[in-house]
Amino acid sequence: MTKVLVNGAGGFIGGHLVKRLKSEGFWVRVVDIKPHEFSVIPADEFIVGDLREPQVVKDAVSGIEEVYQLAADMGGAGYIFTGDHDANVMHNSATINLNTLEFGVKAGVKKFFYSSSACIYPEYNQLDPDNPKCSEESAYPAAPDSEYGWEKLFSERLYFSYMRNHGVAVRVARFHNIFGPEGTWTGGREKAPAAVCRKVAEAPDGTHIEIWGDGKQTRSFLYIDECVEAVRRLMQSDFAGPVNIGSEEMVTINRLAEMAMQIAGKKLELKHIPGPTGVRGRNSDNRLIREKLQWSPSEPLSAGLEKTYHWINAQVEKARQTA
Ligand code: NAD
Repeated sequence: MTKVLVNGAGGFIGGHLVKRLKSEGFWVRVVDIKPHEFSVIPADEFIVGDLREPQVVKDAVSGIEEVYQLAADMGGAGYIFTGDHDANVMHNSATINLNTLEFGVKAGVKKFFYSSSACIYPEYNQLDPDNPKCSEESAYPAAPDSEYGWEKLFSERLYFSYMRNHGVAVRVARFHNIFGPEGTWTGGREKAPAAVCRKVAEAPDGTHIEIWGDGKQTRSFLYIDECVEAVRRLMQSDFAGPVNIGSEEMVTINRLAEMAMQIAGKKLELKHIPGPTGVRGRNSDNRLIREKLQWSPSEPLSAGLEKTYHWINAQVEKARQTA
């Protein structure tokens, strides 16, 4: 049985990934600074520990063949674009990656998966909401619009440096807005699909919800099961990346809100207010992943959004009952 470690499996993507890895027969150890909030993770071993601490990482990588490194100090626009968390985001996430590679290689780990982000792409290519450019090679000359993006770019380079100098295999994916049930939906770190679903679920019919900016900024969103499938394909392939894992179904945030309203069966006004919005336009470019892994998302955005809305609506109901 291959022994794998998933860093950050107390979180959204890591939690789903562990379920998939267990269903495939892996022996799975997990480390996170906190338990999973919404789900019992079927790991063989769950270490609650801080990956900034060398000893925690040394214990975590011991006896492990493959590492999935998903732990990061992260959140949605309300967390990474305000500037208030920049030092933590850079210090915490870089330290986790430095520790994971250094102690992982020393312990004999053979392969590392690293979750980078579409936030590494230069702001100058994402000014036109209808025509953003996010092909993998367009990352340079680098000009991410957040320190979160800069740390991801640094860490991508760190993984490839260890690959070149220490002979380990690495796989680097750039995730584009992954969403779904069992992810952060409130509290300030939630991302746009969860925030929009929560606002729609909470608003009485005929009232309004608030949208940051003019809502004309564009994004694409990938459902969690599709993301996990692409991650597994990348790990099994002989392609190191970096490669986009995302959807090419680009929508405005206003359109995303309308889709959520349709699912909820509610009519709500959109009230546009000032807020952190990130780049004007962003879409995944899937040409490389189609070519290398023969992978594309299998379902439209509406299908994933429906599952996510119903899960968030249930959380909102639960919160109401306990209030
Ligand atoms: P998440 O916040 O739900 O999960 C990250 C986990 O890392 C959390 O459970 C957190 O407790 C843990 N963590 C943070 N600091 C830690 C520390 N010092 N020690 C131990 N654990 C620590 O985020 P997610 O959405 O599951 O994202 C997973 C990865 O994918 C992250 O690296 C993120 O940057 C990347 N990513 C996600 C998206 C997305 O849309 N969700 C997009 C691009 C990239």
